[in-house]
Amino acid sequence: MHMQVPGEVEILALWERGLARHPIDRALLLYAWTRPDLPSSSFPDLPLGTINRALLRLRETCFGPRIIACIDCEHCGSRMEIALDTGQLLAGINEDDSSTEFDDTPAEFEVSSLRFRVPCSRDLAAVTGERDLKAAAVKLLEQCCLEHPENIDAGFANLLAEAEAAMEELDPAAGINLSLSCEDCGHSWLVEFNIGTLLWDEIDVRARALLAEVHSLAQAYGWTEPEIFALSPQRRAAYLDMVGV
Ligand SMILES: [Zn+2]
Repeated sequence: MHMQVPGEVEILALWERGLARHPIDRALLLYAWTRPDLPSSSFPDLPLGTINRALLRLRETCFGPRIIACIDCEHCGSRMEIALDTGQLLAGINEDDSSTEFDDTPAEFEVSSLRFRVPCSRDLAAVTGERDLKAAAVKLLEQCCLEHPENIDAGFANLLAEAEAAMEELDPAAGINLSLSCEDCGHSWLVEFNIGTLLWDEIDVRARALLAEVHSLAQAYGWTEPEIFALSPQRRAAYLDMVGV
């Protein structure tokens, strides 16, 4: 399915709707843009990898494939710049260009004779209040358990390692880890790359830049927002130049 490029007006509308939302809901809002053909009520139950893959493609459509990110070394604090590529990230999570099928059934797996499914956004939302990472992971696993509560006597904490390995294999795009190494101190570590947060931040920057342009031209010429968006990019740039922006 060919993805439509959101124009300036659509970027502003997405930003306006997502501004007050939680990051998980922002990711679903952006996902909804990529799948206008589907009912959005089903999105919270989609595997996380389905959302992430679509957002990587949306990022490529909106802002191109190259991603430059700045990260501080977790050991020495030295700031490093990393260059990523949406195509490479998608290839790293077993995505080829042909596999754009709608994958709506969370894969299931078994650990210690208990059945689980891979996590969805609804599960993530249920554990956001948990500050302790390990406790959050255990709670997430409980969310994904498909057994009746009375059938469970094993502690989920003991199943965590095996379950996480199974989840990663079944839905590799659910969590995209980057392996980093600091040039200054040699420290190596893994950092989770969150495409939803990155894309939202970029849309936020773009939307605020657009509003600043509208503000400058409205102030100088008294034009309305629709009038300003109706100008060609060349004319708008020329006027912005004349008002000294
Ligand atoms: Zn370092």
